[in-house]
Amino acid sequence: MQTWLKISLLGMMTVSALPLVNASTETPQYAADDVPALPQIRPADKGQSALSFTQANNDEISEAIDALSRQAQVKEDALAQLAAQLEEKHDEYEQTQEALALSRRGILAALPVDGYRVSSNYGHRTIFGKSQFHKGIDLAAPAGSPVYATGPGVVTRAGWVRGYGQFVEIDHGAGLISRYGHNSKLHVRVGDRVSMRQRIADVGCTGRCTGPHVHYEVLKNGQHSDPNIHLAMASR
Ligand SMILES: [Zn+2]
Repeated sequence: MQTWLKISLLGMMTVSALPLVNASTETPQYAADDVPALPQIRPADKGQSALSFTQANNDEISEAIDALSRQAQVKEDALAQLAAQLEEKHDEYEQTQEALALSRRGILAALPVDGYRVSSNYGHRTIFGKSQFHKGIDLAAPAGSPVYATGPGVVTRAGWVRGYGQFVEIDHGAGLISRYGHNSKLHVRVGDRVSMRQRIADVGCTGRCTGPHVHYEVLKNGQHSDPNIHLAMASR
């Protein structure tokens, strides 16, 4: 009898020998002997030796393993990328929550100047082919427009600073600082207590400047931070 026929018959016999199951009351019990043995894999070609068959199979298996490990690597890379994106989103979310909490307390909650146009954003930028980090946001507005304190605090710097021109720095407490550069005229002095929306200066183009604007910076625990998030929430 052909081997495949023997196996099929054996399988059928084994299946019919299994106890009938009453699904509602009994759990079937299988003895190890009831499980049919797996059929032997034979070479498809009668002339092929067992060795060459095994060899061919091994090559196929290694190829499959290689392909699987390449797939795994691609998936791992994609997962790492996703994790990085998730972390970025999480940071963004935390920053938004923090800005919202500050804004509710009236800190960094106002616009430094009304009716502005963003002429340069925070972050990396290229000027004459040279990459540099812009530590603030440039808010273009007509010369002489009022520059406001974006929250209550104490003036810690007021005067000429190289690059920044006529410059004001306000300490809002809790590690938060705001800075205003390129003003034409200052209305505060070091040590002054200011309230939110108090006029602290006039828009100008002093220092390194190509057109009247407020260079506005926000620092958190000594680190520069993107002021945009606060501007987006500021009442206008
Ligand atoms: Zn700037």
